[in-house]
Formats: sequence, structure tokens, C-alpha cells
Amino acid sequence: MRIVLLGPPGAGKGTQAVRLAKNLNIPHFSTGEMLRAEAAEGTELGRKAQAIMERGELLPDMVIMDVMGHVLAKKECGAGYLLDGFPRTLGQARALDSLLQERRESLDHVPFLKVQKEELVTRLLGRARKDGRSDDTKEVISRRLEVYNTETRPVVEFYRSRGILMEIEGEGSPDDVFQRLRSAVGKKVA
Ligand code: ADP
Repeated sequence: MRIVLLGPPGAGKGTQAVRLAKNLNIPHFSTGEMLRAEAAEGTELGRKAQAIMERGELLPDMVIMDVMGHVLAKKECGAGYLLDGFPRTLGQARALDSLLQERRESLDHVPFLKVQKEELVTRLLGRARKDGRSDDTKEVISRRLEVYNTETRPVVEFYRSRGILMEIEGEGSPDDVFQRLRSAVGKKVA
């Protein structure tokens, strides 16, 4: 099963993606996590990514497509995958589309976690205090939400127009959200 999980920053994508991928027994790839790992290792990509992430901006599509092209070519992706944090721009969504077309594959589900803006800010500020992520400061959070609105909202509409977007209520407890997500993508709830 091939899934793209969409949602604004703070919607709970990371938490839900880990659970859903485990439940469906498919690999999970988070671009944010991959970039933070590169930054921690101090690679060239990591250093570049760190500076961009700290401003709440996005990496160039070419850079992300290079990373994701390699990820999707992995053998373990043959039976499906769950993508979290990608595609994040229309350019990335179109590039993913051509990659899939070349392989005569398609996405099965594109769940979109819906959460009100006030709740997003509360959650992100809470995470900032807890985990100390360097892109969770008040200024950067508001920039990330702005970038989400201009760059990533069109991706939601792109998949909506394809008829594969599923809106999932993202407020409530993580367990509640998981149940909704799990039943939306079908199969049994473990
Ligand atoms: P969030 O909680 O904001 O969704 P992520 O962990 O998914 O955070 O991503 C953190 C940062 O990594 C983003 O703000 C962005 O700078 C960078 N990033 C992650 N995925 C992408 C992508 N697909 N395209 C461009 N930049 C990305």
C-alpha cells in the first residue's frame, strides 16, 4: 500500500505515521527526520538543511527529489510505503507523480489530518518546551505555518482534485485520531 500522509506542521503526522506504518507493516519515511539526521551527522546536505529548517523555510524541490528518488528506488519500497512530510510543494507532488507513472504505480491513499490553526500553535509551542526542536520557536512556527499555507495547501487541493484525498479529523487524543486514520485506509484495527 502506498500512502502519503498530509497535514500542517503540528497536526501529529509524525506520531500517526509511525503507528500507521507499523500497523500496516510498510516502511515509513519522514523527510523532516531524514534531514534532522543529516544535520546531526554534519553532512553537507545536513548543514544546508539545518540553516533552512531554522528559518522555517523549505529545501529546494531539486534537493528533496534527489533524496526521495533514492528512497523510493529502495527494494524495501517495492511492497509500499508511507511518506510523511513529502510532497510538500506542487513541484514535488508533480515530480512524485511522474516517478510513479514511470513505474506504472499509483498512490492508494492520501489522508489529510485536519487541525485548527490555534490548536496547531498550542501544540507546536508545547513541543518546543518539551523537545527543544530548534524550529519550534514562536517566530519560526508562524513562518512554517505561512509556508504551509502558500506551498503545501496546493498539494492538498492537487490530491483532492484527483479524488484520493481523505480528510481526517486530527483533533482529539492520538488514539482517537489513529482509529479514524486506520479505518480510513481500510483493513482491521489492531
Ligand atoms: P513539521 O512538523 O513542520 O511538519 P518536519 O519534521 O516534517 O516538520 O520538517 C521540518 C523541516 O524540514 C521543514 O520545515 C522543512 O524545512 C524541511 N523539510 C521537510 N520536508 C521537506 C520537503 N518535502 N520539502 C522541503 N523541505 C522539507
